[in-house]
Amino acid sequence: MHAAFPLPDVDWPPTRELFAGAARGELRVTRCNLCASLVWYPGTPCRTCGAERQEWVTVSGRGTLFSWSVVRFPWIPQFASIVPFATGLVALEEDPRVRLVSRIVDCPIESLHADMRLTVDFRPLRFDGLAGEVVVPLFRPGPK
Ligand SMILES: [Zn+2]
Repeated sequence: MHAAFPLPDVDWPPTRELFAGAARGELRVTRCNLCASLVWYPGTPCRTCGAERQEWVTVSGRGTLFSWSVVRFPWIPQFASIVPFATGLVALEEDPRVRLVSRIVDCPIESLHADMRLTVDFRPLRFDGLAGEVVVPLFRPGPK
């Protein structure tokens, strides 16, 4: 049975391994089988060589904040208890050209700054009034 929106669909093939890895405490992304460049989003052609075959690999979970946006109004009603929050593009340490979209946690919004160091933190995502939860990769400041 699928989790109810806005929980992510952990069975959707392109990102199933991302959520399976998160449940194990591993940050998983795809890597090009031909040139070994990291590729994100899964299933898109490699930006380095254009190849389309990829495999999933585990990365360190360290990165830097490339950019972010602050959500202050709960356009989705389930977000009411978490606004304001920051959604950021996290540039991975292994290849800063590869950026994941995630929520930045454990940091006052006014303290966010470009290139701040971030570490993945796997946390259960749950919403008021919705059954179930999904472990997702969020990012917090650190290491110092
Ligand atoms: Zn490639």
